[in-house]
Formats: sequence, C-alpha cells, structure tokens
Amino acid sequence: MLLELRGLEVRYGGIRAVKGIDLEVGAGELVCLIGANGAGKSSTLRAICGMTRVYAGSVRYAGSELSGLPVHELPRRGLVMVPEGRGIFPQLTVEENLSMGAFSRRDTEIAGDLDRQFETFPRLRERRGQTAGTLSGGEQQMLAIGRALMARPKLLLLDEPSMGLAPLLVAKIFDIVREISAQGVTILLVEQNARLALEIAARGYVMESGLVTLAAPARQLLEDPKVREAYLGEGAA
Ligand code: ATP
Repeated sequence: MLLELRGLEVRYGGIRAVKGIDLEVGAGELVCLIGANGAGKSSTLRAICGMTRVYAGSVRYAGSELSGLPVHELPRRGLVMVPEGRGIFPQLTVEENLSMGAFSRRDTEIAGDLDRQFETFPRLRERRGQTAGTLSGGEQQMLAIGRALMARPKLLLLDEPSMGLAPLLVAKIFDIVREISAQGVTILLVEQNARLALEIAARGYVMESGLVTLAAPARQLLEDPKVREAYLGEGAA
C-alpha cells in the first residue's frame, strides 16, 4: 500500500472529528472518500498531509510513518494536497502559481512540465500572465490542480474539487482527475458529489460522524441501497 491509515484520530479541543479510522490506498489506485458535511473527510486529508495534528494512530506513506515530519518535506516525497478552497496565491500570476508548485524540485524538467500543464489546461495558457485572483472558480480549480502536478506527485490528495463549480465545469474537472489517474498518479479524492466520485474511483470509503461505516469497490457502493438513499439523492430502493 502506498498510503495506510491505522486508527487515525483527529481532535479539535474536545471535538473528536475523526474517531480512529483505517483506510488504505494502493499505488496507482483512485480511491474516494464520501460522506455528509462534517463527517470528518477534510480532517482526514489534512491529517495525512500534516496540516492538522494526528491525535492518535498512524499515517504510513511509502513504507514510513509521516506524522511528525515537517510539512515541506512531503512534496519532496511525492505527497501533494489540493486543499478545499484551492489555496492559490491570488496576487501572483497563473505562471508564477504553477512555478510555485515545483518549489521542492531541483531537476531540469520544470519548464517542460509547465508546458504540459498548459496542454492539459489551455485556459491557463491563455491566462498565464493574469493574476490568479482574477480567474473564474473553475479556472482557479484547474490552476490548483496544475500547481499540484508541478510537484510530480505520487499521491495526490484532492479535497472537494467540484466545490462551487457549475455542472459543466465539474464534469471537466472530473475528466481531468480521471486522466491524471490514468497517467499513474495515485489519488485520494474527497467529494460531496458522491455519484461522480464513485463513477471514477475504483474503491470508496463512506464516513459518518468521524467513522468509516462502509468500504467497498466503488461499483458496489453505487448499488448499495443505503448509499443510494443517503448520498445519491435516491429514495430507498
Ligand atoms: P466538509 O465537507 O464540511 O469539509 P468534512 O466531512 O470534510 O466536511 P471536517 O471538515 O473534517 O468534515 O469536519 C469534521 C468535524 O470537525 C466537524 O464537526 C467540524 O465542525 C469540526 N472541525 C473541522 N475543522 C475544525 C477546526 N479547525 N476547529 C474546530 N472544529 C473543526
């Protein structure tokens, strides 16, 4: 397994946001984590990438324990997060934002990778000199993903990439996520849009009130009456 969570617990003061969960992602897999607002999905992702302290349990990545490592060390090891709300630098240009994604690299292929992002996201090429704050929501999401790819991730953590986007753009973002996965990048995707997430993922985990309540192949979850009723907007089968 590339990523292995065992008994992961996250607390905010007295609130137990994640109550001891097990989760794994194999190399090359696309796995999604779905669940209602406040179920603990984002806290789980933030704990993996060191943005939130791990209260208990372990986060193993590529065979070693991550909790306690300095956050800036993670991109160097191929672990990159696209946070909810995107986290781009609004005052910097599109190209500067993309270049920031390569901050941990010392190789000579950065310029080539920049071109690759512009091929994947032609809108970003057109707007390469524009400040990121002037982009539309969809373009900002593309920029956030493009910036993450500039780090050449092995494991990409995506937190709610569809948030606040029109349906057409959501479909485009999901196409891109699928494409990134097809190129061999391992992905852990947190999504409110359970249907779309389960349609592109191989496996899925369902979180409720800080616990993993279901873990199964995505196709099986799409057929599960409980999942259909609670997360896919369908009445009980
Ligand atoms: P969302 O889709 O809203 O992000 P989520 O499933 O990702 O939901 P989390 O954001 O992980 O859920 O939140 C889990 C619980 O922890 C919620 O009760 C939330 O209010 C609480 N929480 C999250 N972040 C903090 C924080 N920084 N301080 C205090 N409580 C927090």
